[in-house]
Amino acid sequence: MTIVVKIGGASGNTLDPLVADLAGRRDYVLVHGGSDRVDRLGEAMGRPAEYYTSPSGVVSRRSDPAHLEVVVLALAGGVQTEIVAALFRRGVRAVGLSGVDGGLLLARRKEGAREAVGGRVLRLADDRSGTVERVDATLLRALLGLGIVPVVGPPAITAQGEIVNVDADRVAAEVATALGAQALLLLTNVPGLLRDRTDPTTLVRSVPREGGDEFLAMAAGRMRKKVLAARAAVAGGVPRVVIGTSQGIDPVRRALAGEGTVFA
Ligand code: ADP
Repeated sequence: MTIVVKIGGASGNTLDPLVADLAGRRDYVLVHGGSDRVDRLGEAMGRPAEYYTSPSGVVSRRSDPAHLEVVVLALAGGVQTEIVAALFRRGVRAVGLSGVDGGLLLARRKEGAREAVGGRVLRLADDRSGTVERVDATLLRALLGLGIVPVVGPPAITAQGEIVNVDADRVAAEVATALGAQALLLLTNVPGLLRDRTDPTTLVRSVPREGGDEFLAMAAGRMRKKVLAARAAVAGGVPRVVIGTSQGIDPVRRALAGEGTVFA
């Protein structure tokens, strides 16, 4: 059994309980984001993050070449290396891979990225974001077969060899689908999808396969991407998909046991 665990990168996500919980396992791929780190490095480099909202209401990071460089430095050179080191301290041999390494995540560049500005829809200039179209599961399986844990994050690469930013939740969903994983756990800084995002007691315990649009409507900002990724994984045949908390002890065990929002 292989599982895919995605750890969020917004502030409030904690790594220690996660690596402690994963220390005894070798049957997983760890996918990471790193939005908070990207934002902080961008500030330090004088390239503060910019976000845009698509006409359908999805919020994304602006990824022109200058901002994409920040993403690559913060994730592949920063967050990922630290996760690999944290696993090493727990006796786990892990290898960090961006989607560029080994052509792991093959993406298509988003040609028509658009933003909604005051009632008008504008085309994004020089956008370097993409959509993952293929995951090289053979590379992941080879590592897992050697007892090595793959730690995977953005960016990805296009067939033409361009580096593109991709959404880490969607990466996790695509990796889980490509591996035929038994479970996808999207761990984040909230208990799951909330009916009222300001009230943790309003947790949605399950989202049925049919009629998911009602739930999509609850999810603002980046939670929307998680719900979309969770639904993509369900459609891709992943039997257990959960959005759960990364906080507190045993986050993996708890999410596997169904704590959080379970997508069926
Ligand atoms: P991560 O970095 O862990 O992937 P994100 O910041 O991308 O996390 O997404 C989680 C955030 O989504 C929450 O911290 C919350 O602010 C926001 N959010 C928006 N709508 C909802 C909702 N309905 N339920 C829960 N969280 C929501």
